[in-house]
Amino acid sequence: MAETTYPYPDPVVEPAGAQELARDLVVIPDRRIPLVPNIGLVGGTHSVLVVETGMGPGNAGKVLKLAADYAHGRRLYLTTTHFHPEHAFGAQVFAGEATFLINRVQAEDLAARGPGYLEQFRGFGAAVARELDGVEIATPDVVYDDSYDLDLGGRSVQLRPTGRAHTKGDQVVTVPDAGVMFTGDLVETGQFSIFPWFPPYDTDVSGIRWIEVIKRLAAAAPKVVVPGHGDVGGAQRLADVGNYLELLRDETWVRRDSAMSEATIIDEVTALMIERHPEWEGREWIQPGVSCLCTEHAS
Ligand SMILES: [Zn+2]
Repeated sequence: MAETTYPYPDPVVEPAGAQELARDLVVIPDRRIPLVPNIGLVGGTHSVLVVETGMGPGNAGKVLKLAADYAHGRRLYLTTTHFHPEHAFGAQVFAGEATFLINRVQAEDLAARGPGYLEQFRGFGAAVARELDGVEIATPDVVYDDSYDLDLGGRSVQLRPTGRAHTKGDQVVTVPDAGVMFTGDLVETGQFSIFPWFPPYDTDVSGIRWIEVIKRLAAAAPKVVVPGHGDVGGAQRLADVGNYLELLRDETWVRRDSAMSEATIIDEVTALMIERHPEWEGREWIQPGVSCLCTEHAS
């Protein structure tokens, strides 16, 4: 296979950068590197929960080592916010070391879409293919349906599926005593929302459902939001995403409903969004967002 030049820094997790956000709650920041997620460790008296694996066995091995050192004999759990490669394609490394626990729809996403995403992401370039080398799509140890409260010892963590938004199986992880919410890719800081709109292979993302999910998450008023990618912040992070998605929807629909061609809608809305957020990264995600919303209607 010809090697594609990958235009970003290597997607490598750096555990040395781990930062304590609250008592016994640590985040390994993504350092703004694409395909590196923010990764969390949440501790209680007898157990530690790891949120996200990093992409591939090498990255996940580093996360597991940090988690095992941090846990210092406490039991380990692993969960992931959704099945995408940089969030979940390292779970195999945790087998036998941690209990891998996710919501049922995410488990279905992982099984049904995991192999296709593995092939797709391998084509992004040699640096990505290297991290994905040896990936096996893991099977969770525990799958839950509606909600799951995980007792870590003196601290309960809420695992909640949101319903279809960024993917079909999105899950948020909330630590109520610390006011911390891990949103996965439902929220990114300083970048346009990632719409994994890849017809005909994957059209699960829904802009209008995503807007509703963000409203519900904002109503919970978390003190600290850990996005899938980008800097940790306050509840304003949710407002920023909600405002962007609503603007994207409104500007797309007003043009669609005046029978403008999709190509023209994409050109005009892309220019508008860049004008509104000139400093945001990920401009390539505007077009899939417009194309997705072109197919959607008010519920
Ligand atoms: Zn994602």
